[in-house]
Amino acid sequence: MAAAGTTRTERPDGKIHGAPQALSGDAPVRQASLREHNLGLVLRHVGAAPRPPSRADIAAATGLTRATVSALVDDLITGRLLTEVDPAPRTGAGRPAAGLVLAANGPAGLGLEINVDYLAACVVDLAGTVRHRAVHRADQRPHSPAEVLTGLARLAATARSAAATQNLALAGTALAVPGLVTAAGLVRLAPNLGWRDVDVPGILGDHPALCGTPLTVDNEANLAALGELHAGPPGPANFLYISGEIGIGAGIVLHGTLFRGARGWSGELGHVPVHPDGPACRCGSRGCLEQYAGQEAILRAAGLAGHGLSPDAAIADLVERADSGDPATTAALTGAATALGVAVAGVVNLLDVDTVVLGGVYAPLAAWLRPTVEEQLRRRVLTAGWSPVTVRPSVLGGDAAVVGAAGSVVRAVRDHPARWLAAIT
Ligand SMILES: [Zn+2]
Repeated sequence: MAAAGTTRTERPDGKIHGAPQALSGDAPVRQASLREHNLGLVLRHVGAAPRPPSRADIAAATGLTRATVSALVDDLITGRLLTEVDPAPRTGAGRPAAGLVLAANGPAGLGLEINVDYLAACVVDLAGTVRHRAVHRADQRPHSPAEVLTGLARLAATARSAAATQNLALAGTALAVPGLVTAAGLVRLAPNLGWRDVDVPGILGDHPALCGTPLTVDNEANLAALGELHAGPPGPANFLYISGEIGIGAGIVLHGTLFRGARGWSGELGHVPVHPDGPACRCGSRGCLEQYAGQEAILRAAGLAGHGLSPDAAIADLVERADSGDPATTAALTGAATALGVAVAGVVNLLDVDTVVLGGVYAPLAAWLRPTVEEQLRRRVLTAGWSPVTVRPSVLGGDAAVVGAAGSVVRAVRDHPARWLAAIT
């Protein structure tokens, strides 16, 4: 493939004139690094452009020479990252130039999710479009980790076939789990699944549905927050994404970046204490938020627990009852929202995020939860008087974690296209 960054000249000492410091700090910048940087620059420009830009448009916008842009674009087209589209009609003189878009039949991400009451898989292409989605609804708690992962691998195999049928090449897999995950993918603790020290890559990594591409494992609220961050037009750069399921997780986004904490275990909002002497929690403590605002706690308070309904049907029933003004349901949702607002007010006071996103089962319940959560934030957040906190439902709804997981794979390709190009050559 053609070398890029040809506007720069190499000195006898191997350093490069005019190389931006931001590329590598005090270290010398290699020609290959420049090419990697510029490939990413061109791909990001096309991904963010409001209409398909031509090579000349990209050169004008990035400051690269037309020859350099052309060489980079050729590489990106060969690597199935960009596609040329018909030029827009032009009224002025000169031949209209072809526009460039992210390839719809190039690399894609496979997202997987394990939750307490379902398994999910989806495939997202380079432009962020969901091309395949499947959910298997069943309580996972009676099953061993190996059994759950076998079920998940079946969903992954189907997703892989669907991707191949659509001429997509899977660049990797990201798995969302409701628990504490180490950087190596070891699930240290998932209290609601009853998992402790489960080596997910060790069990799943060699499965035919996944082998051959990288597998990452991450907390579901973290991946959902990333999904929310990259969904649609740019939204807030500082927000708390709350994943309301049987457990309650949170993804913290600060300055447009996921804040993981020292060991990657931030966001355990469900185990923030609301009442020190409250009901016992699966984590071993008492009075955790989860015991007041988790999905099962809400259904119990509304008198809907033990009706034999699937979780989806139970939430649909809850929405219907709330819509009709059923007093027990209204009281249950107000109680959950009060506890949620108290816990979230502590987070907002501490981190100064300006937006709270209600995700998971909280998304369809947002109309009833939001007023009380907002009321608690108004009462308890010191700065709320002159800078109210926005509370809104998730754009991606219940799919946020699995779509965010697949999107994280695609995002890695978009951020580092040179790695993808090197992997396929
Ligand atoms: Zn707890």
